[in-house]
Amino acid sequence: MHLTEINGLPCYRSSLLALFPEVAHGFFTRLGGGSRGPYESLNLSFTVGDLPEQVAANRRRVQEALGLETLAGALQVHGRREAVIPHLPANPGLEVPEVDILITRQPRVGLLIKQADCQAVMLYDPRRRVAANVHCGWRGNVQNVLGEAVQALRERCRCRAEDLYAVIGPGLGPCCAEFRHFREEFPPGLWTYQARPAYFDLWRLSRKQLEGAGVPPSHIEVAGLCTRCHPHIFFSYRRDKITGRQGAVIALK
Ligand SMILES: [Zn+2]
Repeated sequence: MHLTEINGLPCYRSSLLALFPEVAHGFFTRLGGGSRGPYESLNLSFTVGDLPEQVAANRRRVQEALGLETLAGALQVHGRREAVIPHLPANPGLEVPEVDILITRQPRVGLLIKQADCQAVMLYDPRRRVAANVHCGWRGNVQNVLGEAVQALRERCRCRAEDLYAVIGPGLGPCCAEFRHFREEFPPGLWTYQARPAYFDLWRLSRKQLEGAGVPPSHIEVAGLCTRCHPHIFFSYRRDKITGRQGAVIALK
């Protein structure tokens, strides 16, 4: 994964998804938007205190950079429900209520996951031409939202796990993912994912959950970028509390 620009807008691109020219995607950063103060500058969340018209303008900037007709976001709740997104009219404020898994087969509809330490995990099935984007924080790991996403793709779109490609985006790294109360927050089966006492390797955990759902290890890419460690590039809730949300978008062209 490397930092580049799409039509002038900075973002990270997956070398795995770049193998598929029919897929548009970008892991966007805090760079390149118009928001001010703690939301500087490409904040894509309407629910963190930023000006709604500025957030809408930032979303349009992302949509235009990727050449999409629509961006579909989610009112993410750290759960494990999914929504299949049909063709939709352009609306920069569109948010599907109470889902953390977005799926589409419609071209030019961007699936937007917002995060500031949680992971966005993109999935793509080149055989069935289905794209998905998952919001996975540590609560998502505890509920195995990634396994749920693979199951939803199998049931609703007839995907096979072995056909799927997955990219785990920037998020809280093992350097910063401290959970002092992990005995209450994580089931004992996940305690082996501590990189050192009370610090969890959520990147490795997400990879293992995808592999556990049947995604081939060679089809998984991990960004390995810690949001908390890079204040000039990423928003981080752990670091700043009052802050914006960067976005990750995948779409079929
Ligand atoms: Zn870190």
